[in-house]
This record gives sequence, structure tokens and C-alpha cells, in this order.
Amino acid sequence: MTVRMEGKVVAERIMEDLRRRAREEAERRNSVPGLAVILVGEDAASRIYVDRKRRSCDALGFYSEEHRLPADVSEEALLEKIVQLNTRPEIHGVLVQFPLPPHLDRMKAVSALSPQKDVDGIHPVNLGKLLTRDPGLLPCTPAGVMRLLGFYGFPVHGKHAVVVGRSLIVGRPMAQLLLKSNATVTVCHRHTVNLAHYVRQADILVVAVGKPGLIRGEWVKEGAVVVDVGINRLENGRITGDVQYEEAMKRAKAITPVPGGVGPMTIAMLMVNTFQAYLDQTRAAFEASGAKKG
Ligand code: NDP
Repeated sequence: MTVRMEGKVVAERIMEDLRRRAREEAERRNSVPGLAVILVGEDAASRIYVDRKRRSCDALGFYSEEHRLPADVSEEALLEKIVQLNTRPEIHGVLVQFPLPPHLDRMKAVSALSPQKDVDGIHPVNLGKLLTRDPGLLPCTPAGVMRLLGFYGFPVHGKHAVVVGRSLIVGRPMAQLLLKSNATVTVCHRHTVNLAHYVRQADILVVAVGKPGLIRGEWVKEGAVVVDVGINRLENGRITGDVQYEEAMKRAKAITPVPGGVGPMTIAMLMVNTFQAYLDQTRAAFEASGAKKG
């Protein structure tokens, strides 16, 4: 029987554990983790994601605030807002919701963040640490995929992992994390000739493209573990992934549903990063207060 990797369930467990740890630390440190989200414009999907992030913060007892900027905000004003948030000690994580309107440069915005507050894990310093294998904040979606594979007990070591998609926030860091866990990694993209040829070889297949049904069920290797990161809204309003789910299910050993697979893990990992950023940023003050008492 094919295992459905229920990210929703795993994410709830992560949140439960975080809630407990955050409560303990809040008492010890006399403060709570704080997350600020910047939303530019009125993109409907972004609005939904930002609301979810706020609700997750509420559920964990984290402080959160939202900064809404008009769609025609200047780059200067956006960068100024980021720099302001960088300096506020009660804000441990700052997130710029993507996509940004076309006149704004995503990497300029990310690079303006303090790397310690970059809870999306995509500041060049954090991506560099991923390459050098130093501890840093990890990109949420790839980190969530690794947690999901770990939770269901699917080892990565020695496997052939095929990642379809090479974006900065998903595909590329995903490939690095799989490599770090000793998989042999192939990365496919728009210019890959004969995608099916590579997909057929995947022991672990991670797809992050944004095209419904791009990966045909018959391409999936017998016994493969399939992670579908894609989120696509069809004309009938239904949400679906990039993999032909029913057909892939017949061949895969395990597969993530969409929705309810990787999506909830991404938000849970954002909360994990916010908590980690809080621990790191309050460590010095906490240790100093302990030293004084001692
Ligand atoms: P991007 O648009 O940034 O990247 C898409 C990638 O897919 C690119 O690398 C592109 O290649 C590649 N691609 C496009 N067409 C093909 C094709 N025909 N064959 C092979 N590769 C192709 O998207 P994101 O990485 O931001 O997101 C991908 C999907 O994942 C989206 O559906 C998004 O909504 C979803 N998503 C889900 C998250 C979750 O939590 N579940 C979180 C983040 C994203 P090239 O580089 O050559 O252009």
C-alpha cells in the first residue's frame, strides 16, 4: 500500500512541540518570539498565506505584526521598512511575502534583511551557509521536505534523488539538502531534454515547478518516494500539484497529497526558524542574566 505522507499531521506535531518549548523559553527569557511580515500589494494568494502565518504565530503564543505596503511602493520605502524592522529587538524574524510587484527586486529586498532575522532562509549569507554546511536558517520548504522524509523513515543516503525545478526558494536549496544527506542528486529544469528519462530513475522525486500534471504517473519508478511541492489552482477552483497523483500513487511507495502535504510543513518550518532566530538573538542577554544571578 502506498504511504500518504501527511504533512498536515506532521506539521501539527512540530507545532505542538514548538508550543511547549516556546512556553518554557518565554518564562525563562521573559520574552516571546516575534515575527514581522511585509506584504506589498493585494495579491489574493499572498493574503491567504500571510493570514495563515499570523494564525500560526497566534497558536504558538508568538508575537506577530503585519506591514502592508501599497503595490506602487518605492524600492527605497520598502528597503527602509526592512532596515527599521532589523533594528527592533522584539522582532526576531522578518519575512517579505512573495511575489513582489515587478518593479521591486526580490533579491535586493532579501539582501536588506539581517541574516539573523531572515526566517525564510534565503538571504545570501544563509544560502552560503547551506553550501559551506555551517549552521544557519534553512529555506522553509526544502527543510520541511527533509523533515517529512525523516518522519516517515525514508532514508536519503545513497539514493538517487531527482529534483524538478531549480528556484532559489525550493529547487536549489532542496538539491543541496539532499546532497548534504548523501543522496546522488540530479536537478531538472525548463531546458532539461527528456525529463521523463530522469524522473524514471528517481528513488526520491521532488517536484517544484507550478504546472499541474507535468509529471506523468507512468514516469514514476516502481517504489519511488514522491514529494509534490507544486500548488496549482485549476479553473474549477480545485488545488492540485505538479504530479498526476492517482497514476503516480499506483507505482510510488509513498507520495505527498496536495493540499495537505508540503504546504503545512513550510509554515511549520517558518515557525521553527522564527523560534530558532529568537533563541539565537536572545541568547547573549539570557546568558548574561544567568551569569548575574549566579
Ligand atoms: P518558480 O517559478 O520560481 O520555479 C519553477 C521552476 O520550474 C524553474 O526552475 C523552472 O525552470 C522549472 N520548470 C518550469 N517548467 C518546467 C518544465 N516544463 N520542466 C521542468 N522544469 C520546469 O517556482 P517556485 O519554485 O517558487 O514554486 C514551484 C511550485 O511550488 C509552485 O507551484 C509554487 O506555488 C509551489 N510552492 C509550494 C510551496 C509549498 O509550501 N508547498 C512553497 C513554495 C512554492 P527554469 O529555472 O529553467 O525556468
